[in-house]
Amino acid sequence: MKFAMIGAGAMGLRYGILLQEAGNDVTFIDTWQPHIDKIREQGGVYVSRDHKDRHLTKIKLETPESYNDDPDMLIFFTKQMQLAGFLERCSHFFNDKQYAFTCMNGMGHIEKLQQYFADDKIIAGTALIATVLNGPGDVDFMGKRGAGKMNMANLTEKPDEMTHRLFDELQKAQMNPTLTTNFKGTLMTKVIFNSVINTLCTLFEIQMGEFGNFEKAYDLGRQLIDEAYDICERAGITLVSTRDEEMTALDRNTRIDMPLHYPSMYQDMIHDRPTEVDYINGYIAELGREHHYEAHTHIFLTNLVHLSEYHRANE
Ligand code: NAD
Repeated sequence: MKFAMIGAGAMGLRYGILLQEAGNDVTFIDTWQPHIDKIREQGGVYVSRDHKDRHLTKIKLETPESYNDDPDMLIFFTKQMQLAGFLERCSHFFNDKQYAFTCMNGMGHIEKLQQYFADDKIIAGTALIATVLNGPGDVDFMGKRGAGKMNMANLTEKPDEMTHRLFDELQKAQMNPTLTTNFKGTLMTKVIFNSVINTLCTLFEIQMGEFGNFEKAYDLGRQLIDEAYDICERAGITLVSTRDEEMTALDRNTRIDMPLHYPSMYQDMIHDRPTEVDYINGYIAELGREHHYEAHTHIFLTNLVHLSEYHRANE
């Protein structure tokens, strides 16, 4: 299949390089000039696995303005606040046959994609796959080959032939996809998961294992999970895990699967970039307001992250 990977950061590189290695034609599209310059100077991207086996991988790299091809599928891996800008700059090569796929964290991206793509061309999902961009032109795929997993669903909740082709390519690339027919529930279950781990680990600048092994981790997580689940019940969203299953997944992911990982929100904070908190805890709080439920803990955490961003910006 022919892919355009829009956003060649940590996750764009991980999906794109693995899809390329599985035999697909992938072009990466990015806008961060130091990254673009470094990749061109090196003749590719340095890829490591868990800090080891650092090697140069050749990629095709374009900017939104220089790319003028017709891919079957556009994969979006930008940060939430970057998406509108990428869509506008890339829109000259969009057409109504192309599919848009993304596994970005948070919520807010689907409405933006709908401004450019028909509902039956939008596929989205979630990725429990940890990847770190060490700096321009240098990425670390955390975990062994085949580590991590992901979910995907059609916005229409009706998988078509292209959905199955994408699924097969993701499977060949060892991304371990699961196809669901519950779009909002699939995405929101991950938003809630991130609203605990990403936000708390970022605020306290700790690894996921340091959170998971804390004796009150269950209580902290449960409070956020309960608020978010109450809101989803009011909003009529059927989540794909029960509250207890979500707590078990949090425990497993932090203590056993990725204890040494810092979540992607933390990567933004330490590089003094804005975080996605408004699209994670902030989104849950906003959904609560729409359904007459004040998500006190999520609002408090959103404000704390902004306080930290503000403090770092004024240091
Ligand atoms: P990223 O920040 O690595 O890359 C996104 C874009 O930002 C790219 O265009 C990249 O070139 C650019 N960029 C990176 N560093 C920059 C800097 N210092 N200044 C300016 N631009 C910079 O983002 P990502 O980690 O690939 O995340 C993409 C989406 O996937 C997000 O929604 C994220 O929450 C989600 N996600 C990430 C992970 C992970 O482990 N990284 C896992 C699951 C989901």
